[in-house]
Amino acid sequence: MVYKAEYLWLDGSSPSVRLRSKTKIVEDGKHPPMWGFDGSSTQQATGDNSDVVLSPVLSVPDPIRGGKDVLVLSETLLTDMKPHPTNTRAACAASSEKYGDFDTWFGIEQEYTFFEGAAPLGWPENGFPAPQGDYYCGVGADVIFGRDIVEAHMDACLQAGLHIAGINAEVMPGQWEFQIGPVGTPRAADELWIARWLLGRIAEDYGVTVSFAAKPVPGDWNGAGAHTNISTKQMRSDYDACIAAAEALGKNAAEHIANYGAGIEDRLTGLHETASYKDFSYGVSDRGASVRIPWQVARDKKGYIEDRRPNANMDPYVVTRLIIDTVCGDASK
Ligand code: ADP
Ligand code: MN
Ligand code: MN
Ligand code: MN
Repeated sequence: MVYKAEYLWLDGSSPSVRLRSKTKIVEDGKHPPMWGFDGSSTQQATGDNSDVVLSPVLSVPDPIRGGKDVLVLSETLLTDMKPHPTNTRAACAASSEKYGDFDTWFGIEQEYTFFEGAAPLGWPENGFPAPQGDYYCGVGADVIFGRDIVEAHMDACLQAGLHIAGINAEVMPGQWEFQIGPVGTPRAADELWIARWLLGRIAEDYGVTVSFAAKPVPGDWNGAGAHTNISTKQMRSDYDACIAAAEALGKNAAEHIANYGAGIEDRLTGLHETASYKDFSYGVSDRGASVRIPWQVARDKKGYIEDRRPNANMDPYVVTRLIIDTVCGDASK
């Protein structure tokens, strides 16, 4: 007997990487082996030296096919078994290990926008829907678009054993959010990539596409972010460590902004619940700050902080690696 293994990997697309996948039939009782693909078709190699190696890092039950079938998230290697230049996971895993004593957890809020053709799902053929105000966490067919897909995606994430924490409808019509975590990294980033793949795959069946664009509609409409919530062991027991983490992020703001996703200047304008990409600020309950300290954390004097800057189209391996390096690096001085 055999089972189906769907291998998922990150390609070399620019300015934002995308997921690719293909299927391997594997004999029962055997683990999904190393595999490979044609890197010249994914912006990861030239045609005369096209082989890129797929090395499995996380297998989970495949909620689409069911049964014994699995999803196999893989990292990309060169044929000498070194990380491929587009492999951002290797550095993330290295930083996580280097600062392992900090036991850093991440909770990532992934916002995204459904599209049907050229317009967000639920938008009128001509013109614009009613302005923002009634869509966020709304109910009713006049404000909610795509709930079937969102529910199917949440169930799929649970069946795959991902740490999905919840979902909500967002401020712009056709826009939604799911949260992964809190969980350590690179696991948090691995799970986010699998959850992104599941979303795109499920939406296919509805003829809908998923956009992670940071500013899917220009003008007076909210962008799409990926707020990244962080805690170290120290922060989970001590408020001073939470403040120190926010201060550390402020000292390295430019490097973070440069790596938080394509088109970040269009989203972090200072309007629409963002702080300008040119400034750094943090504050309790402040959704206009770069970094927010949730009110419960200020009350309990311990917990986590929320980096509100990452774009929906960010690479979570890059973002979680940078945060670990900045926060844990500063605390180690
Ligand atoms: P909001 O929309 O108010 O910003 P959400 O409920 O969408 O908040 O997201 C909060 C996130 O914080 C969740 O993803 C959750 O996993 C994460 N989180 C909670 N506790 C911690 C913690 N100790 N460390 C890191 N992340 C955490
Ligand atoms: Mn949220
Ligand atoms: Mn949100
Ligand atoms: Mn948030």
